[in-house]
Amino acid sequence: MSEKTISWEFAPAPEDSRLAMIAKRYEHFIGGRWTPPSEGKYFQTRNPATARKLSEVAAGSAADIAKAVEAARLAFRGPWGNMPARERGKFLFRIARLMQERSRELAVTETLDGGKPIRESRDIDIPLAANHFFYYAGWADKLDYAFPNRRPRPLGVAGQIIPWNFPLLMAAWKIAPALACGNTVVLKPAETTPLTALKLAEILAEAGLPAGVVNIVTGAGATGAALVEHDDVDKVAFTGSTAVGKVIQKTLAGTGKKCTLELGGKAANIVLEDACIDQAVEGIVNGIYLNQGHVCCAGSRLFVQEPVYEEVLWKLKRRLDTLVVGDPLDKNTDIGAINSREQLTSIRHYLKVGLEEGAAIYQPDCQLPSRGYFCPPTLFTEVAQSFTIAREEIFGPVLAVQTFRTLSEVIEKANNTPYGLSAGVWCDKGARLFQVTDALDAGVVWGNSYNNFDPTSPFGGCKESGFGREGGLHGLAAYLDI
Ligand code: ADP
Repeated sequence: MSEKTISWEFAPAPEDSRLAMIAKRYEHFIGGRWTPPSEGKYFQTRNPATARKLSEVAAGSAADIAKAVEAARLAFRGPWGNMPARERGKFLFRIARLMQERSRELAVTETLDGGKPIRESRDIDIPLAANHFFYYAGWADKLDYAFPNRRPRPLGVAGQIIPWNFPLLMAAWKIAPALACGNTVVLKPAETTPLTALKLAEILAEAGLPAGVVNIVTGAGATGAALVEHDDVDKVAFTGSTAVGKVIQKTLAGTGKKCTLELGGKAANIVLEDACIDQAVEGIVNGIYLNQGHVCCAGSRLFVQEPVYEEVLWKLKRRLDTLVVGDPLDKNTDIGAINSREQLTSIRHYLKVGLEEGAAIYQPDCQLPSRGYFCPPTLFTEVAQSFTIAREEIFGPVLAVQTFRTLSEVIEKANNTPYGLSAGVWCDKGARLFQVTDALDAGVVWGNSYNNFDPTSPFGGCKESGFGREGGLHGLAAYLDI
């Protein structure tokens, strides 16, 4: 299918899986202790690159959630609530330093449990997670300066539910600001990627964090629902699908509990005719392929202005031919494993629908591993706005390409989606860049870059992509009564 332009092969450079030091079994982390599940049930977590079992973790019941919320309430009333803010900040610093010390172990664990390339977990997930703790450590004793003329107060017990695409990073995004503001936490990691959150529990204990300040209860959707429904939770923070976000919002309606939701997306990545094309192509690849498309802000809709369409497409296809798909532990790998069998099935369904609806497909000739869950980078052209692949979130390495002539046309097309999480614009002229970015309905818009994250910068969506911000000063407001 593809005209191969690159012929070299890299020698394998696998990271050592033994560095992960994964235990055979993990229990809940409640009140500072490893606590067996009340119903005695455990479930397996698997390596999606091999489909082999890695470990088994406790299946959380409503009783386990109740125990964790009680521990969090006690810590809020007691040691954590009474601790001077400066001392709270020191704990956050300590946690960040310990994460750095164990960064290689955490990176390998993240890659084994979730399937993402080691390059991504080593260079993005783990350092950024530690940076969130460093950043919010600095805020802990400066909340009065963050919100002048107010008296910011913690909310109490925060129930936090996170997805499988950035397991440790999402835990850090949620836990660090909550603690900096003086709240206590019950965290429910995703069922397919619980391991780094459990290693974070080890780090919290090692840092000497008082018992009950952070509790981690593992389980699937029902465990998350029990946390949302618990009466003594003051705030729910959720990152995940729009469908579950809507259920959570219905459950919380009228309860007075605070809520922030970071949900799905169908981001537009827009290349204007005067853009630096080579840079834009790298940004497109970074936006949708290097992370298996496993990002809610993935640039999954590409809009290219007609005069540069042929050039962008030619360069993009050549770049796709060079991407290395395979063993996530290999340092050369660009695209790792799809997170689960269910997710791969869902992506394959969209590939079929794209073809049935009349789009043209391009996939490079790459040999996929015989075991595990893998999907080649995929490009669809001849796509209409109405096609399912241009409307629905696929959460895989699948790009739908469309063209446009005028700025008003692309703004209308880009905004024609129920989502509003993120977007990207590639353009040489600052004034035009801002003309487009200002007109896009999205919480985050990258100009001449994509998927750049920083703890100081708020992230979050509008429309059906949710509300509330994580990161930066805005991220503090989500955990305070101001
Ligand atoms: P994804 O499609 O990314 O897996 P989900 O929204 O299904 O997104 O899952 C995100 C997180 O929400 C996971 O931790 C999952 O266990 C949890 N979850 C799923 N269903 C519910 C629910 N009804 N209430 C609360 N949490 C849920």
